[in-house]
Amino acid sequence: MTSESFQTIFQNMKQNLTLFLFLFLTVFSNAQDQIPKISGTAKFSIENGTIDCDIILSDYSDIGNYLIRLNKGLNIVNVQSIEPNKFLLGYERELADSLQTDESISYYFPASTKGEKFLPKKLRFRYVGKFPVINDTISENYQREDWRGNIAFMNGLLRMDGYQSAWYPTLYDVDNDFQYELVKYDIEIICEDCEQIYLNGSKPVNAKKAHFVSESPREPYLFIGKYGIQEAQNITLLNANFSDTQVDEFDKINGEIVNFLGAYTNIPYKEKVHWVQAYLTVNEKGHFAFASNPTFTICGNPPYDLRATFDQQLQGGFLSTIVHELSHYYFGTIKKCNTTLENLINEGFAEFLAVKYISQFKENDYIKNGIREGLEWLEDPNFKHKAILDFIKLENTNDRQTYAYDYQTAILFSIEKEIGEEKMMQWIRLLLQGEECISNKAFFETTLKKAINNNELYNKIVQKYLTSNSTVENIKILWEK
Ligand SMILES: [Zn+2]
Repeated sequence: MTSESFQTIFQNMKQNLTLFLFLFLTVFSNAQDQIPKISGTAKFSIENGTIDCDIILSDYSDIGNYLIRLNKGLNIVNVQSIEPNKFLLGYERELADSLQTDESISYYFPASTKGEKFLPKKLRFRYVGKFPVINDTISENYQREDWRGNIAFMNGLLRMDGYQSAWYPTLYDVDNDFQYELVKYDIEIICEDCEQIYLNGSKPVNAKKAHFVSESPREPYLFIGKYGIQEAQNITLLNANFSDTQVDEFDKINGEIVNFLGAYTNIPYKEKVHWVQAYLTVNEKGHFAFASNPTFTICGNPPYDLRATFDQQLQGGFLSTIVHELSHYYFGTIKKCNTTLENLINEGFAEFLAVKYISQFKENDYIKNGIREGLEWLEDPNFKHKAILDFIKLENTNDRQTYAYDYQTAILFSIEKEIGEEKMMQWIRLLLQGEECISNKAFFETTLKKAINNNELYNKIVQKYLTSNSTVENIKILWEK
């Protein structure tokens, strides 16, 4: 038992978040559509920071208003149409498009009819790039910022996510705000100065080159270089350098968490969890983490690396981070939606499950105290927001972090307090079924109504916590009792 509140955890998380954009963002694919496939060859040098790719993009749906995102540090040699005909393509750039963090440039192929786009059935992209190599953060050779989408060559390693970095041609459906970063792959990864290669969704290998194939959609996150691989029952650790005792302990914790999440949601956690110790390219304290299911990456330099964090901060917030991240298997992977609003609401549910898990080991008033302390941020006159059912665009709040991690979580716990733990669990189970987005307001409402199974109580919940202008006041009254 500790007296530490989860508010502290929220705030620690927020402090980290202010440094780095889009911390825990995870992504999904749309099951109704075809899953794109990438194939070909990608060559890297961890010493030189170079990338040299020859990638075929295929198997995608015929999207009229599309863009193809590629990292801004990658220079195109050429783009070819492979099907239906083989020829070199001319391309245009859409300068206004960005995946919020500006790593990518967006391309399209103009059709012969002015103002329209042309999308061949199969494309071949050849491109090269050279990126900064950061070997320490003591000299002045480090960066001002590090974040999820950074193509980070650091300490003889390359960490490169598959969601934001756009290291491969990433198709984006403009009209439906849907990015196809989850892809099938059949790809050869070559890195002559590496000893280990890991491509998300495949087993890590001890080799300088490897051929990876996945028929199920994956975020092609890549972690290559020279590092140790440690295997246990529930987890695989990359570059973590844990002692045998630590591996056992961490494996046990991960096992307990996935059991808890599986029991709560009634959906078993089917993946082996991969934890990656990567580094920061900035001279900053702390770490940030991100999920590329089933891989979780901690970016931090000693003493804020995975091993030290696990040793020293397990009770001080790190346990909560682990549960939060693993919860994105459900809120972020099981549910296959990819809109800005879905990402936001997923944070509320992931945090709810994290606090729920931690509260088992805390004093009775843990949740109550956490929410009361959090009111300080929610009641701040500078915090502008709309209630969850009225929230339709990101501009409905001026503070995404407070809204995502504090406001939504407090609302979810308030609903639980009113309807009881059993009905709350039923609601969450209903939300995780079917194809509808959780951010779809009608789906959100009908599932809640079904779980509560009492019209009067349902109407009261909607009024007090989901549509009112005085939701914060209502939270306060509820938890003052
Ligand atoms: Zn999250």
